[in-house]
Amino acid sequence: MYADVIIGSSLDKIDRPFTYRIPENFPVSINELPGREVYIPFGASNRVVKGFVLSVKIKCEYDEALIKDIISPVEGAVGVESRLISMAYWLKSNYGGTMNDALHAVIPAPKKVEPKIVHLAKIPGEISEAEKLADEMKQKHAYAKERVLRTLIKNGGKLSFTNAGTFNTSMSVLRNMAGAGLIRLIDKEEFRDPSILKNDEKSLPEIELNDEQKEALDIFNNNYTESNPGKYMLYGITGSGKTEVYIAMMERVLAEGKQVIFLIPEIALTFQMIDRLSRHFAGRISMLNSRMSAGERYAQYIKAKKGLVDIVVGPRSALFTPFSKLGLIIVDEEHEGSYKSEKTPRYHAREVAIYRAEKEGAAVVLGSASPSLEAMKMVAERKLKLMRLTKRAGGALLPKVDIVDLREELRSGNRSVISRRLYELIDDRLKKGEQTILFINRRGYAGFVNCRSCGKVMKCPHCDISLTFHRPGRLLCHYCGYEIPMPDKCPSCGSPYIATFGLGTEKVEELVKKTFLTARILRMDADTTASKDSHRKILKKFKDREADILIGTQMIVKGHDFPNVTLVGILAADLSLYTNDYRAAERTFDLILQASGRAGRGNIPGNVVIQTYHPEHYAVQMAANGDYLSFYKEEMHTRSLAMFPPVSHMLAIILYGYDSKEVSEGASFIRNKTERAVGGSLADVYITGPVWASIAKIKDIYRKVIYVRTKDRELLVRVKNIIEKIGKDREMKKVGVMFDFDPEGTV
Ligand code: ADP
Ligand code: ZN
Ligand code: ZN
Repeated sequence: MYADVIIGSSLDKIDRPFTYRIPENFPVSINELPGREVYIPFGASNRVVKGFVLSVKIKCEYDEALIKDIISPVEGAVGVESRLISMAYWLKSNYGGTMNDALHAVIPAPKKVEPKIVHLAKIPGEISEAEKLADEMKQKHAYAKERVLRTLIKNGGKLSFTNAGTFNTSMSVLRNMAGAGLIRLIDKEEFRDPSILKNDEKSLPEIELNDEQKEALDIFNNNYTESNPGKYMLYGITGSGKTEVYIAMMERVLAEGKQVIFLIPEIALTFQMIDRLSRHFAGRISMLNSRMSAGERYAQYIKAKKGLVDIVVGPRSALFTPFSKLGLIIVDEEHEGSYKSEKTPRYHAREVAIYRAEKEGAAVVLGSASPSLEAMKMVAERKLKLMRLTKRAGGALLPKVDIVDLREELRSGNRSVISRRLYELIDDRLKKGEQTILFINRRGYAGFVNCRSCGKVMKCPHCDISLTFHRPGRLLCHYCGYEIPMPDKCPSCGSPYIATFGLGTEKVEELVKKTFLTARILRMDADTTASKDSHRKILKKFKDREADILIGTQMIVKGHDFPNVTLVGILAADLSLYTNDYRAAERTFDLILQASGRAGRGNIPGNVVIQTYHPEHYAVQMAANGDYLSFYKEEMHTRSLAMFPPVSHMLAIILYGYDSKEVSEGASFIRNKTERAVGGSLADVYITGPVWASIAKIKDIYRKVIYVRTKDRELLVRVKNIIEKIGKDREMKKVGVMFDFDPEGTV
């Protein structure tokens, strides 16, 4: 057996591993080796250095005679780097992809890309002095130093750079000059800290936990021990005060000198959560989000590693925070689809959280108002301890829910997207000065353009999905960015009756403006939140009651707490219901429940209006009644009939390439290999496909999928390993293979 080892103690060298032989009777077992620190002979003189084992392999691509043996493992406590590497190895083994893919998921890009600033030691106003200095350097034949000074002078005395090449010199020259007081070098990242973390307002009154919250906390406190901290599901209806329970659990864990990772599904929720948390834990929190630059993320990573913070709040990547004394991982809104990575390795944050917590002796708490079927199944199997909150905290009542049948609405002559009932209630709220949220299932749905004469739908030539209309008249592909002007007649039949179809946030905004002339309206969707701080600004405006109506997509319904909102309108609840996706009912249920949960959180009871074409569907009905347990039963039954997760496990094998014929041939070939890999156990295994992926072509790449379903996840991992090897063979040169375990929907 051989091991790939990186030299030294720094993880920025992951791209340059060296191969060593693992001697026989090595005291660490092969499975435990990835991540371990070892002594190795290095260089011509075989000086002994330390390194980390990245991965192990059977074959070695180099001359056997040139390979050296690992000397011995480094004894002592396992460091945080070791843990991260072994976590990466686990990701790779369990979800597919290469070790490099996995390491990149786990370890942020090293700060080298981060710009530094260099400036003259004595600016401002000392350019002329610098000129003199430069002349002096020239006389001394110190041309490199002269060059640096002249470059700086040319740039007004100050320059930000990422590479000393900017000055046609090396970093050591710059450091030398800084040491001599000629220039000043500043690491930009030292000053980087998301401004939001500076919030130190602590004025909020302490909330006393209610009885249910106390009970939940007791379950945690009574089960949490050093040796067995436990795994928990906090299932509490919207507004039941889950956050306060999280805070109390965090206090307990922090008091024991441990650290906390707090996962939230979306950037839009980060700010509100940080606001609330920083009132309790000011100065001890760090955060990560997808909008941060590599350098900003790296700075947070280093802070966590140095132990300068005890809490990290962030999306799924925060799971890999290099804490050395991890005590608790919270996964808030654990049912959210964004916890699944869409990049290889396609891990699920819930699963990794449980894995890491078990490995490092930490507790894990999943929280949701509509737990994923996966989590609830674990509760049923007693793998998670259940904590329940059944009432709204502070005594707020659940909203009254109306289901409006849109077909009937049309029959009575109302062609607007706002039903009569919803109109009535919005009008009422405007009069009372209360706020309304209008929720539209998804951006882009609206905008598709078709011809009313021949039916042609305008599609992206690269992606095979419909283009979306954007004002003032552009058609845009949301997958690849392809953009054309809106045609004035049908490119297929020449008819002028070509128009947008359906319902988008912009269109609803326009309509609501026309209908309610005095209403102040805010819109929140992917378009209005493109810039860095826009989420926060829009939400703050709404919270400060600077608007009456907030119109938006998914991102407005999750988790937010607006006490003055007393009406939520779900404009077309079932748009997600009949998509070709096994989780469609669950998603619809979640969305209705979450959206409803925004209404009536304060002292005034609220209303929810669900507009739908399918009022009889169980997901709509049960969500309207807030009946999670019935939904769970019904849906688990449906899933078990078709062997869908979580009843069964499902592996999607994705074949992709530029040539559709090659992809098809490769897929058939892999289907055969898959059948063989599954071997004798066929009775419990179902293989379907290959089929074209739901979006068959993205950015000119064609994709086909084979699905393998079985309860035996280990079998799926074995199938993956076999197919992964075949994928690297010559036969498959032009077709790539990717894997997705328990995919979030149709691939
Ligand atoms: P969830 O996360 O379960 O949806 P939150 O934690 O956001 O609920 O709490 C909903 C609201 O109830 C918040 O405004 C919160 O401040 C308030 N709240 C929570 N616990 C209590 C309590 N014990 N007493 C009074 N108000 C509470
Ligand atoms: Zn036409
Ligand atoms: Zn496209």
